Amino acid sequence: MEKAIVVVDEIYDFITGGSLECGHSEEAVAATKALIEKNPALPVLFICDHHPANHCSFAAQGGPWPPHCVAGTHGAEIHKDLLPFVSEELTFYKGCDPEQEQYSGFDGKNEAGQSLAEVLNLLGTEVVYVTGIATEYCVKNTAEDLLKAGFKVTVIEDCLGWVDAEGHKKTLPDLKSEGIRIQ
Ligand SMILES: [Zn+2]
Repeated sequence: MEKAIVVVDEIYDFITGGSLECGHSEEAVAATKALIEKNPALPVLFICDHHPANHCSFAAQGGPWPPHCVAGTHGAEIHKDLLPFVSEELTFYKGCDPEQEQYSGFDGKNEAGQSLAEVLNLLGTEVVYVTGIATEYCVKNTAEDLLKAGFKVTVIEDCLGWVDAEGHKKTLPDLKSEGIRIQ
């Protein structure tokens, strides 16, 4: 059974010191790195929130969030500890259109214009391990879309960061009841 690891938004603006810093973010990066190192044969696909400066999800445009992950800034970069595992064809950018909020990695595209599902299918993937930030938003939406697309999905709890600890705790049983494994 072919497996793959998906890393959601482990980028500086969601990590301690970033404009939208999340709880357990540095721990999530360290645990994700350990998971990747323990499974060196598995492809690792990175999802990146990647916004223009006038994105609709930012407060100045009436959205719920402070500006974050603006293309070309440090805040939009993947954490340096994960860079050795990053490749262009397995990196997917979402939220690039100023008018559209995209929490799910499923909406992302790589430089070649391929979607996450397209590339997972090309790799013959059946089982997907999901890690990243934040549990209640982009991890949840990505995991649910993967499940709907027919993949077996396991969310790795140690590898998650969250906007709100209570929200994180509430999201896990919801995902489990939908058929997503929590490990
Ligand atoms: Zn965003």
